Amino acid sequence: MFGWLRARRHRRWLAEPFPPEWEESLRRQVKQAERMPAELMAKWRHRIHVFVRETSWEGCRDLNVTDEVRIVIAAYATLLVLGFEDEWLSRVRHVLVHPTPYQGRRTRIGVEGLDYSQGDWMQQLEDDAEDEHLGEAWCESGTVIIVWSEVPTSERIVPAGTNVVLHEFAHVLHELLSGWFPTARTECGESWLEAFQNEYSRQVRDTDRGRRSLLDDYAAESPEEFFCVATECFFERPGRMQTQSPMLFRLLKQCYRIDPISWMT
Ligand SMILES: [Zn+2]
Repeated sequence: MFGWLRARRHRRWLAEPFPPEWEESLRRQVKQAERMPAELMAKWRHRIHVFVRETSWEGCRDLNVTDEVRIVIAAYATLLVLGFEDEWLSRVRHVLVHPTPYQGRRTRIGVEGLDYSQGDWMQQLEDDAEDEHLGEAWCESGTVIIVWSEVPTSERIVPAGTNVVLHEFAHVLHELLSGWFPTARTECGESWLEAFQNEYSRQVRDTDRGRRSLLDDYAAESPEEFFCVATECFFERPGRMQTQSPMLFRLLKQCYRIDPISWMT
C-alpha cells in the first residue's frame, strides 16, 4: 500500500516540469552536470526532483536551506544511484545542513567503527566530542548530516577528489548493498568482496608506510570508510582513479553500475 502511494506521488511530481531555477543551480554548481549525456541527465533530474520533495530539510545554526543548497546536495546524493533502475534513496528522510564543521558528541555511541565497549570509553567519548565533524549518516533513523562549507560548488574549492555528500550517502549505499558484496563476482571470477578487501589491505599498507596514495589516509580507517572515500574519488576524479587504481575503479564501476568516465572526459 505504502509503495503504491509513493509511486503515485512520484508520478505526480515527475509530471511537473523540473523548475528552471533548479536546472540553473544544477548546471552552475555541479560540475558533473556539464557533460552528462542527455538520457542520464533526464533520469538524474527525476531522482533529484523526488529526493528534494520527499526529504525533510533542516538548517542548523541559522543556516537558511535555500533551493540551491537542496539541489546541490540532492544532485550528489542521487548521482550515486543513477546506475540503479529503481533506487530513490527513500530510506533517507531527513537531511540536516550545518553551515561549517561542528564539534560535539555524535548522536549515538559506536560510530565510525570505534568500539566503546572496550577500554576507557568515557575518554573515547571525550575525544569524539572534540573532533570536528563534516557529516554523519544514520541509516536507522534515515538522517544524514552535511556541512555545507565542505560541499564542492563552482564558488568553493575543496581538496581534489573529496566530496562530503558523496561520502555520507555512500554510507547509506554501503548498507543497502552490503548483501550484494559477498555474492557478486568480478570479471576475473574472484568474489567482489575478496578483491575489494585486497584493495583495502593495499591502502592500509601504503598509509602505514607513509606512502602517498590516491585516496586520503582516512580511507585506511576501516573497510567501510575505504568504500566511502573511494566512492568520492570514483565520482570526482574517475580518470585519475582509472589510471592509478584500475582494479578499484573496476570494482566500483561494477558496484555502482555506472561509468563516470562517460561524463567526465
Ligand atoms: Zn565515513
